[in-house]
Amino acid sequence: MPIATVNPTTGETLTTFDALSPEDLDRSIALAADAFDTYRTSAFPERARLLRQAADLLDADAPDIARLMTTEMGKPIAAARAEAAKCARTMRWYAEHAERLLSDEHPADADVKDSGAVRALVRYRPLGVVLAVMPWNFPLWQVVRFAAPALMAGNVGLLKHASNVPQTALYLEDLFRRAGFAEGCFQTLLIGSGAVEGVLRDPRVAAATLTGSEPAGRAVASVAGDEVKKTVLELGGSDPYVVLPSADVERAARTAVTARVQNNGQSCIAAKRFIVHTAVFDAFTDAFVAGMRALRVGDPLDEDTDVGPLSTEQGRSDLEALVDDAVECGATVLCGGQRPDGLGERGWFYAPTVLAEITPEMRVHREETFGPVATLYRVADLDEAISVANDTPFGLSSNLWTREDDEIERFVRDSGAGGVFVNGMTASHPALPFGGAKRSGYGRELSDHGIKEFCNVTTVWIG
Ligand code: NDP
Repeated sequence: MPIATVNPTTGETLTTFDALSPEDLDRSIALAADAFDTYRTSAFPERARLLRQAADLLDADAPDIARLMTTEMGKPIAAARAEAAKCARTMRWYAEHAERLLSDEHPADADVKDSGAVRALVRYRPLGVVLAVMPWNFPLWQVVRFAAPALMAGNVGLLKHASNVPQTALYLEDLFRRAGFAEGCFQTLLIGSGAVEGVLRDPRVAAATLTGSEPAGRAVASVAGDEVKKTVLELGGSDPYVVLPSADVERAARTAVTARVQNNGQSCIAAKRFIVHTAVFDAFTDAFVAGMRALRVGDPLDEDTDVGPLSTEQGRSDLEALVDDAVECGATVLCGGQRPDGLGERGWFYAPTVLAEITPEMRVHREETFGPVATLYRVADLDEAISVANDTPFGLSSNLWTREDDEIERFVRDSGAGGVFVNGMTASHPALPFGGAKRSGYGRELSDHGIKEFCNVTTVWIG
């Protein structure tokens, strides 16, 4: 894939970039390693000061960076501004809490007495240079979600961003530099995916995190495994959204629309499979389909647009192939199912779509629909709902709508996902861990869990 800004609203190539030469790449890695040597000894208050400065700069830049993100990958402009604001909040959250989250742990004297220790403690030390391979769908957030905790822990970052968001990637490097982080603490590497293996095998690189597709995750994790380097993987999802009879059906349907089409449907934690009890199936379906039909599809720079184009032409073709396969296998199209009228000649638009009568042999049943396409399932009871919810290779998050405590407990016990959100849609928050099970990856981001992933958990035993 060329490293280029291609506006998905028009299909026009706006800027292209050359990939770093092997020599420049080597220099960047050397710079990162040097930076780590010094930065790792910095004090928490100093790191926090720098990160707060980055947050302030980002707030000031929000209108411009939002416009850039929308131009590079097509998200509605209001969502782009909200993403920038969330990044600044998360930087401030880690600036405030990191020192506490990483403070020494002191096992009870009684527990360690028979080890012979006079004193023992656990200290969280940084790992070193961490490579972040990141996707285009939340081009600021995916990176900040890694960078804020990593920098507060004393690590330094090398970003290999998706090839279609190079200007956002360069903005991030510039942001951290302007905030005052020393040269080399956070660098953007303009490289193609083929160069990732070399970076990861470099002895100066300690670990990697990847957010993206399963094949990309597998490629990075196998190299890291071969090198015995730590990885965190946040891969795709096909989250279930279960609606039971006691639910507030009207609110569940309204939230379902947002949960499905957020970010033009290109979110790993978007609800994708809507699993509805037969007692409320018709009421939910009517409201949900009406909501999907009412969405305004168009230019994402227009403040009134709900759904913009897909980010890449390939992304739209992949989505079309999934819908076509479902229809050929007998799915019913309740709305959408095609490119919207009057759009899609130049840009990569696709109409909000609801498919019903889904069967297990359809690709949409087991693959991720990365765009505004929902699948609907009718189920007879909670047992069947859980069975359909878990009948997926993915396990990122899951949603349940009910007023019954016993149903909540049962779902939390049996869901195969890394998250359970009840009577609301899945959303990440700096204080809550984020990550999946099964083919959705491993490790956690955000909260204390996220900041500890790239730490050397050091046992200190004093006799
Ligand atoms: P990819 O997984 O291909 O891209 C994500 C990142 O990984 C990019 O930086 C990409 O670089 C890099 N990458 C890709 N292949 C490799 C590799 N073999 N070794 C090292 N790095 C690699 O996502 P796509 O953009 O192709 O989207 C395809 C599908 O992935 C989507 O339809 C969706 O299902 C899923 N996806 C999930 C995301 C999530 O949030 N979990 C985000 C994006 C996609 P480059 O851009 O240079 O190829």
